[in-house]
Formats: sequence, C-alpha cells, structure tokens
Amino acid sequence: MALLNNLKLALHNWNSARLLLPHSLRLPCSSARQSSHCAAGDAIQAALDEGGDVHGFRVLEVREIDELQLTAVRLQHINTEADYLHIVKDDPNNAFCIGFRTTPLDSTGVPHILEHTVLCGSHKYPVRDPFFKMLNRSLSTFMNAMTGSDNTIYPFSTQNPTDFKNLLSVYLDAVFKPNLTELDFSQEGWRLEHADPKDRNSPIEFKGVVFNEMKGVFADSQNIFMQKLQNGLLPSHTYGVVSGGYPLDIPNLSWGQLKEFHKYHYHPSNCRIFTYGDMDLEDHLAFINENYLKHFSKIELNTEVPDEPRWSKPCTDHIHCGIDSLAPPDAQNSVAISYRLADITNISECFTMSLLSELLVGGPNAPFYKSLLEPLYGTGFSPATGYCGHTRNTTFTIGLQGVKNGNTETVLTQIENTFERVKKEGFPQERIDAILHGIELSLKHQTPGFGVGLAMNLAPFWNQDGNPIQSLAINECIDNFKKSMVDNPTFLQDKINEYFVKNKHKYTLSMSPDASFEKTLKEKEAALLQSRIENLSEEDKQRIYALGIELSNKQEAVEDLSCLPSLHPRDISRSVDRTTLSHVRLSDGVPVQASPQSTNGVTYFHAVMDTHSVAPDLLPYIPLLCAVLTKMGAADLDFRAFDQKVELYTGGLSASPHLQQHIDNYSLEKGVVISSYCLQKNLHHMLKLWENVLTEIRMTDMSRFSTLVKMIATEKSNSVIQGGHHYAMQAASATVSPYGAAREEWSGLSYVDRLKRISESDDLKPVLIKLSQLAFVLLGKKYMRVAVNASPEDMDSTLKELELFLDNIGGTPKPYETHPAIDASAFTPFTQRTHHVFPFPVNYTSRAFTGVPYRHPDAGPLRVLGRLMFPFLHREIREKGGAYGGGADVSPGGPVTFYSYRDPNSVQTFEAFSRALEWVLKGDFNERDLNEAKLGVFQSIDAPVGPGSRGLRQFLSHISDDVFMQHRESVLDTDAQDIVRAARLHLLEPLIEGSCLIGPANSTLEQDPFWSTVQH
Ligand SMILES: [Zn+2]
Repeated sequence: MALLNNLKLALHNWNSARLLLPHSLRLPCSSARQSSHCAAGDAIQAALDEGGDVHGFRVLEVREIDELQLTAVRLQHINTEADYLHIVKDDPNNAFCIGFRTTPLDSTGVPHILEHTVLCGSHKYPVRDPFFKMLNRSLSTFMNAMTGSDNTIYPFSTQNPTDFKNLLSVYLDAVFKPNLTELDFSQEGWRLEHADPKDRNSPIEFKGVVFNEMKGVFADSQNIFMQKLQNGLLPSHTYGVVSGGYPLDIPNLSWGQLKEFHKYHYHPSNCRIFTYGDMDLEDHLAFINENYLKHFSKIELNTEVPDEPRWSKPCTDHIHCGIDSLAPPDAQNSVAISYRLADITNISECFTMSLLSELLVGGPNAPFYKSLLEPLYGTGFSPATGYCGHTRNTTFTIGLQGVKNGNTETVLTQIENTFERVKKEGFPQERIDAILHGIELSLKHQTPGFGVGLAMNLAPFWNQDGNPIQSLAINECIDNFKKSMVDNPTFLQDKINEYFVKNKHKYTLSMSPDASFEKTLKEKEAALLQSRIENLSEEDKQRIYALGIELSNKQEAVEDLSCLPSLHPRDISRSVDRTTLSHVRLSDGVPVQASPQSTNGVTYFHAVMDTHSVAPDLLPYIPLLCAVLTKMGAADLDFRAFDQKVELYTGGLSASPHLQQHIDNYSLEKGVVISSYCLQKNLHHMLKLWENVLTEIRMTDMSRFSTLVKMIATEKSNSVIQGGHHYAMQAASATVSPYGAAREEWSGLSYVDRLKRISESDDLKPVLIKLSQLAFVLLGKKYMRVAVNASPEDMDSTLKELELFLDNIGGTPKPYETHPAIDASAFTPFTQRTHHVFPFPVNYTSRAFTGVPYRHPDAGPLRVLGRLMFPFLHREIREKGGAYGGGADVSPGGPVTFYSYRDPNSVQTFEAFSRALEWVLKGDFNERDLNEAKLGVFQSIDAPVGPGSRGLRQFLSHISDDVFMQHRESVLDTDAQDIVRAARLHLLEPLIEGSCLIGPANSTLEQDPFWSTVQH
C-alpha cells in the first residue's frame, strides 16, 4: 500500500512515538554514494580550521569518521553559545534539525503545546500553520516536529537547494520569532468552547488539538503503562511528569505560562543546530547568524536534568487501565521491571548496555524470549521492553503484556531467575558475534533517511551535553568492547550482576483492567469541566462565546499566503534518472532482474512467487504464512538455530503478502514477496537459508506455532487503535475494487478478526495443515521471479550463486510472459457503509472510491486532486473538527480514500468529505493551489530510494521507467479542467462508495438504514 503522504505529521508527539519504538542498537543507515567523502572532508578541513571563526561561529572540532564515510564539524556560536554540528557527506538528501532542551516540571504538556503553537505563524510568516502549508510548497523528503520527555526537535530534509533555504527560513522564524497568539494557544492547546461555537445555548466543553491528541494517546493502555514506568523509575525531576500533557492537567496551563516557557527554553543559548549533506556549510552559517542568532545574546540557563538520586530499595506500584475488547478477558494484565542504568554520556557503557539488551531480549535465542514468551506467560513483551537511551539516566525494561490473571508474580520470579541464570552462564560467543555482525552490516546498508535519522538518534545524547562527534565513532566502541571481553571473559556477566541482580534502583509496575476505568476517567473530566463552568462569570461566558466565534471566523478566513516561499512545478525535472537493469534467465528459465549499484558491498535479494497454483480456499492463509515463514525453522535447523544463522549472516529475512493492481486494468497480481540483504561474502549462506525455507520449512512444531500465532494476534489487535485510520480505509475500500477487497482480506479488520479466532481456538492443527499445503504449492520456482542489486564488481559472482540456489529449489519455471494476472471481471463494486464498534474514545473514518489503474489518463489528475483537497480537509477536520488529522489518499493504481483519525466527530466528518468534493467541482481553487498540490505529489513520486531498492518499481509493480515518466508528466501537466473532470467521473458519478467508521457506539448510525453495525 502506498504511504500516506499527508500523514507525515502523524508522529507529531514524540512522547508516544519514541516510547512505541524499541530503542535500536543500530544507527540509521548511510545513504551516501561511496568514496568521495574524503574530498569533501578535505575541503572543509582546509576552510575551517579548529579554533577558526566563520560567520559568528567558532570551529571547535573537525573529525573524519571512516566507518560512516563522513566528516563531522562541531561549532559554537560566539555570542550566544548555541551549539552546532555539521556533517559533510556526499549525499544530496540534505537534512536540518534544531533542538531545544525542554524540561517541564508539570504535566500540562507545555513543551508539546508549544511545539504545536510555534508552528501557527511567525513574524516573517504571519499565516496560520505555515508548517502545514509548506508541506505543499516544498519537495521535502521529511518534515516534522517532535516533543520528547526532555527535548523538542524540528527536523526536515530535502534534495533541492532552494527548498532547503525556504524551509530553513520558515523553521527558524517559527522557533525564534513565533506569534504565539492567544487564539493559537486555545486552538492547539485547550479552550472552553460551546459544542457549536455559534450557538450560545449548546453546552460548553473542553476542546483543543493537543487535548484530544493526548486523550487518544492514553486511550492505548500500553501508553499509560510506559508513561507510568518512566515516571515511576525517574520520579524526581522532568521524567516524573508527562511532557506530552496529561489530559486532565492540560487545562491548568495558561497562555502566559506558554509564552514564558518559550522565552526561556527557545533561546539560542539553549539550542542545538544540526545540518547534514552535500550543501555548503558556510551558506547555512551565514544565514542562521545574520537573520537570527546575531540578534540574541547569551543567557544563563538552568534547564539541566539532574542525576536521579540512587534508591536504597526497590519500588513497586500498581495501576489500572480500560478493558480491551479485542483480547481475552482473563489475560489483560501487564507487568514489567525497569532498571536505572548508566549516564547517557558514558558512551562505552551505553554501547555495552544496548548490546546486552539485544542479547537479553532480541530474537528466539534470547534468555527472556525462552523464559517469558515461550511458556506463554503473556501474549508478548511489553512495548517498553529493552534498552532505552533517551533519558539522562538510561534504562532497561523487561516485562510482558497479555498476562493471565494470577500469573503476575510468576512473571516477576521468572525475570529475577533469568538474570541469576544469565549471570552464571553468560552468552554463547556466536550470539555476540551475530550482534557485532549486525552493526557492521548496518553501517554499510544505505537508506535514504540517513541524515534525519542521524539527527534524531544523536538528539537525546547531545541534549544532555554529550559530544555528538564522539558518539559517531562506532568502531572505537566496538574495539573497546572486544578488548573488555578479552581482558575479562566474564565482562558481560559482571555487568548483569551490577545493573540487574544487585541494582536496588528498580521499579516494578503491574497493570490490570478495571471495568469502571473509562467511566471514572469520563467522570473526572466532567467534574473538572463542571468546576470550571461553575466559576465562570457572565463576562467570562461572553468571552468564551466571542473567542469561539473569533476562532471559527479565523479558520474560515481566506489568507494571503504570498509571504511564504515556494518552489514551482517548473523546478521539477521532466526527465528521470534511469535505473540500469539487465534481465537474464537462470536455472531453466527463472526471470532475474539484475541491477548493479553502489551498495558498499552489500547484496540485496528479492523474489516474488505468485499465487497461480494456489486454490482459492488457501488464499486467505497467505498473510499468516508470511508472518511465520522465517520463524519456524527449516531443514536440519530448529527455529533457534535458524534464527542464529539469520543474525550471523544477514540483515534479516522477511516475507510479506504481494498485492498489485495491473497498470492497465483492475486485475490483480497476488503472491508472496521475500527479501533480504547481506554482505557479499555471506551471499552463499543467505541463499542457503532461503533454500531451506522454500524446500523444507518445519511446519511440525505445534508449540512454536502456537506461540507465534498468539504473538501475531496480539500485535495486530494492538495496532487497531494505533492505526485505526488505516483499518478504516481498508474496510471502506473493500467493496469498491478487487484490490480493495483483497487488501481488506489480507491486512484489514477481517484479518485481525480471523487471527483472533485462530489464536483462541483449542486446536491449531487444521490451520497448520492448511499452511503446509499452501507452502507446498506456493514456495518454489514455478511462478518465481527474482531481483538482485549488488556492487558492479560483485554482480557476476552474485548471479552464479543465484543459479546454484535456484537449481536447488523445486518446480519447473513457467515463462513469465504467460502469467496472466488474476482476472477481476467477476467483481462487481457496490456501496457499503459499516460502523465497526470498538470501545475507543475517538473515531476513525473513511470513505473510498474505486480509482483508476496506474496508466489510466486520469491517474495523474486524481493524484493531484487528492493532494489539492488536503488543505481544505485539514481545515475542516483538524482545525474546525478537532481531529488529530485527515485528508485524502490516492494510491497510484489503487482506490481513492478520504480519512480522519483520532476524530471526536463521526458523521460530521463524512459531510466534510462531501464538502471537499463540492469545493473541487465548483472549481473554487486557483493556479497556486494546483501548483502546490503537484509539489505535494512529487514529494512521494520523487522520494529518494536507497541503492538496495532501485529497480523495485519495475520488479514489483511492472512500472518501467518509461511508464513512470509518462505518469510523472501526466501529474505535471494536470490542469484545472482535468481535476474537475476526474473528480466528477471518479468521485461523483459512479454513485458507488464504501464508508467505514471505527469507534464507539453511535446512536445516529444505529438508526440509519444505510449503515450496518459490526460489534467487535
Ligand atoms: Zn502533537
């Protein structure tokens, strides 16, 4: 499925985003072309000597980091002491990030509300939401803002030099010169307002973007749990509060407090600026100094987070959460222990800790996997599990979710026993080698988001005054670690003893569901609201009404946006860089696409096996087969031995369902795509592992299968509240096109429900038999095609290895040209509106239309149309409606879907979708709107692609460079008439739509004969 372009801002709140992602040991991966870093580095070194001054900055340190092929330059602004890090790298995807240490001491969410509010207009750009508007005026490859528990960062990246300057100006003006008006504060933070702002008699309620966003965040029990874990383990300063804002505390924040917080925390003396890529550092420095920094002078700050005082005895706590209707009622407990570890600035200790964390919890060979997951004490690790290097004192957490009633104590005993056992036994050397191999591979594997990834990874450490250059020297860490292991063979066991067995600073938290949880929360909010309303004078009420009117007028007003810088579609090149591909047939005719690329010696492998030979009753099992394919073990390797080899030789083996609509019609290609990469020297091992999977997958280990099914079902259930809009979009499009129907069956709510039923069944044998049958007919070279990307000098040997691999797997290849896609002419689209009832406090809505194939003349106009409606939908759904977001997604060659997420409204949002369409049909947009929409579309069309993925558009989607170029041109050449015609033909006249609402019970819809209701 295409990525949702408009959802770039979905991870606005870092609080939740960072907590949900287990901290990774691995650095983001390099996207640079090889070898020329030294030249760029030398040029910098010549111009910027350590100790020299340039544009108001002093150069503190210049250092080449060979393992990342970059040169790092650390500078300090002379007047304000603003900290600056520049990374010289031969990478066109340049990045910028500015960060501030924001350390609140209450849970009003002040840093988070400030993060939203500075993006509501500034001195130079006095327009509402310049940040959102820049999304359509730029070719940025990344734009976001994030609030962490002790810092706030604003990163972006782009490949276009003019765009870089434009965005830099908007970002710096936003953070240093925001308007911070009272209206912005009340829109983004919180306010009292009539339910209908224009109706004085409608009830007064709490509203506000962050207020609703945080209600949505804490609707997920695991977010409540993770937040409490951090608050409980590090309670004495800023980590003891909710930096994103606790909904019931948010209304304690005043506009004045927000402005004060800004003045102090968003000062250059408290900032860290990061730039990255192949653009000129001196240009950046001159602009930043001339326009902003030189107008400030240094202030004394006290934003530091003190060391958390060490505990003399451990601490225990218990909390409650709501009931999860998707999980078994007697298995909804969570329990975890968090340990305070070393200071974040102690690089070698933190490196050891992150490595230790991988050893303890990563993969089926990890001791905690064996002692907690396999006995099925819970349905999965707590999402907080693992090393977390984001706080001043780093932490490690181990725990489970989905724990059966009465099992909590057993889990805690198991945790203590496991640490004791590991302290005695240590770790097998091959697991340590596998993790070190993983680091080596990740340093060479290049992904396009390297610059921004680096900025975000460095931020927490740098924010605590660590030297960011030091932390880039990864080889030094590895060497130190290896030396420690040689000097002291029980080095890791001693660390286990020190940090876990003997550590008194640990916090044990358990959480159990409580039927009255939601009700109590609602009552508390109602009581708070009541107390506020009671204290209102007539004058206050008048003011609330007036403010509500003013806000809705402001939201309605048409603004002059001419102050905002913008690129123009003519800045977009009409030609594309063609990917060098050659096509050969190996092993009796398997089609192989070979693409030589500068891959740093990493080899990438992809294969599609399509479902021509699969009987229809087996097709629904494809996603489950993919989910377990590389986790059951194969040939003479049980799942543990198999995983050990995967880690030792590859960057991981993955399998996923493959679903592709034909570029000229609605027929489908269905199949499975498998992929992996490795250092070239390990190619033979990697392909041997795939050979084992394809020929001798072990579909006999029932206990392993049962464990996996339970974990997968839990993960999917949890994903409904996190990504409800994705599920709504899939359900809405299920009746409008064959593609929509297949996608819903394979990854929508139907799949979640099916998995839940399977995981709860007493006998999994029939399912395992189906999977074995499916594996037997599907896996092999009969309907297989392969793509490899490798360094040019490695291509010959790669193809030789590939031929050996193909010779060893079963099936006789059918010439690919004779494979028709699956005919979809039997599918008749129809209108269906479904309300899926979940006990969520917010809604997710979607409405879908059939759309057109990729090469249809209206494919370009429809993509532009989707983007054109975004500002309209954003205003209606987010600004006026109070939802966290909304828009229209047009996947190239797929359905057109409107959506909203974390939405307090339900049916009203569907009306907003209709108004957006009416607005387009009336032609109420101008040339600039159209140009902006095209730029927006090009952000995804021309998104940078790493060397390991070049050529995949052709391989997976059958879109050649020529077809791609025609599509680009059709987007560039779209005019207003095309838009109106496409909207009328594809969104108005078909009269067929799919609608879906995911959310709480809804009496309006229950009585509506056009809607059906499904209880979950
Ligand atoms: Zn937010």
